[in-house]
Amino acid sequence: MPFANFLGGKMRKTDLTKFKKLFIAQREHILFNTRVIDENFYVRPDEDKDEVDQATKDIEQSVRLQLKNREVMTLKKINEALRRIDEGTYDECESCGATIELKRLQARPTTTLCLGCKEEQERAEGTTVLGRRGERVH
Ligand SMILES: [Zn+2]
Repeated sequence: MPFANFLGGKMRKTDLTKFKKLFIAQREHILFNTRVIDENFYVRPDEDKDEVDQATKDIEQSVRLQLKNREVMTLKKINEALRRIDEGTYDECESCGATIELKRLQARPTTTLCLGCKEEQERAEGTTVLGRRGERVH
């Protein structure tokens, strides 16, 4: 299997193809979602301008914007993963260069870090989140 050799025997071509298909399907799904969000995003001008309604719409808009941002973020991750598949670095940890376990990739297909590096990152992020929460305490 020349392809397996090219990848250093780390991941089988069939696995990569499976991931690629998964990402392409996910990307289609997200593009569809963002279109739906966009279509529902506009407040029709003929609707009455009741202040309460307006406030509700503002909240709805910000929720939709958040939803869309999340979709866009996921889309970026998917595009990144597809690029990594094409480059043959898909199962390579971005931080330490170790091979990311297939099981881990199956659970979190867009991950770019091995478990050890991810745990380290989560510890660092956990501190940040706590810090932000701390600021909000009155
Ligand atoms: Zn790592």
